[in-house]
Amino acid sequence: TSEEAAAKAAAATADTGGPTIFDKIIAKEIPSSIVYEDEKVLAFRDINPQAPVHVLVIPKVRDGLTGIDKAEPRHFEILGQLLYAAKLVAEKEGLAKGFRIVINNGPEGCQSVYHLHLHVLGGRQMAWPAG
Ligand code: C5P
Repeated sequence: TSEEAAAKAAAATADTGGPTIFDKIIAKEIPSSIVYEDEKVLAFRDINPQAPVHVLVIPKVRDGLTGIDKAEPRHFEILGQLLYAAKLVAEKEGLAKGFRIVINNGPEGCQSVYHLHLHVLGGRQMAWPAG
């Protein structure tokens, strides 16, 4: 349940990051538009969408993953699950013509929430290089 997930997140001893707004989204204390959910992963619409489809894919338990720079071998499974969930979201959202998956990391990467998240963006032509 979401309560169990939130409790596990709070109890993750290796996690030295402070709480983020995503904890409240995971606990469903603040509403979000959920696109996909399973035991480990939650995907919900970004409140400030940068494309017609803009979904965030996050681990329900942060376990130290304030950002991708904190990834360790113990995270291999969840990292795979997040990427696979992003693919499921793209499929569900009908992004057969293409889409983009982004991870912002740290100040120069424009990261604003320190709970790992994948952005799934689609529904318009993307440009390259990214800004
Ligand atoms: O990669 P970055 O850390 O900047 O992404 C955080 C994302 O979380 C932003 O795109 C922001 O719009 C989104 N957000 C959200 N709901 C909140 C707070 C932030 O969707 N309550």
